[in-house]
Amino acid sequence: MKKIHYQDIVEEVKTMCMKSNYNLGDDVYTAFKQALKTEKSETGKEVLTQLIDNADIAKAEQVPMCQDTGTAVFIVEVGQDCHIEGGKLGDAINEGVAKGYGEGYLRNSMIYNPLNRQNTGNNTPAIVHIDLVEGDTLTFHMTAKGGGAENMSDLKMLKPSDGIEGAKEYILSIVKEAGPNACPPLVVGIGIGGNFERCAYLAKKSLFRPLGVRHEDPAVADLEMELMEEINRLGIGPQGMGGSTTALDVKVEVESCHIAALPVAVNLNCHASRHQTISM
Ligand code: SF4
Repeated sequence: MKKIHYQDIVEEVKTMCMKSNYNLGDDVYTAFKQALKTEKSETGKEVLTQLIDNADIAKAEQVPMCQDTGTAVFIVEVGQDCHIEGGKLGDAINEGVAKGYGEGYLRNSMIYNPLNRQNTGNNTPAIVHIDLVEGDTLTFHMTAKGGGAENMSDLKMLKPSDGIEGAKEYILSIVKEAGPNACPPLVVGIGIGGNFERCAYLAKKSLFRPLGVRHEDPAVADLEMELMEEINRLGIGPQGMGGSTTALDVKVEVESCHIAALPVAVNLNCHASRHQTISM
């Protein structure tokens, strides 16, 4: 059984928090450049150019690409043959987040309680999802998830009779309603199936798949492409200033569900679509 020490997790998580906020992933950066070639609106092109410049400055000067440095969300694949020594996994993640946001001069956005709104002062707690997998590797997928895009996300328990057409209509209505408030161009994460809470998780999980990588099921991949075309026909455009680039990508995850249900969740991610993955 592989042993992984608590303090090593703290250090890795700290680094992920800082890197994700300073360095836009290559997949998102490439999508910006591609969008610049296809964007039809001059204003849209100007905004995309500014977003590219912004990402370049953040990387060169190692400063956050946005003032909203996000909620630290993790999906951790825990190999069932690895053992964590020296403390609990959740504590190590939170300690890493506190260090990363503190030492990295990143804004602390988390509050103890929505009813009293008092800031926790170190951007914890992180949101942590655990996925038990085969092997002895611990893999951390992390995103610094912006509040504006999260606020415009939604979930609906559709009826089976609504069918795929009803699901598409609902997804488009959420993107349309979000307009500029989710800071487009977006990555649109969609969960279809599961139950109430699982569906929201699927939508979030889909955002961790790199841009440009289609779902392995050809039918789901086709749905992603179709939704992307329809979303980009809405005309919202970069930063909501109009244009043909409302979404950089659309991701769909599908799972089994109850015969009476058709849960659909739409988790929007903004242009600061920050994600990191490390394994240890
Ligand atoms: S939603 Fe994204 S781009 Fe908008 S303010 Fe928050 S992190 Fe920044």
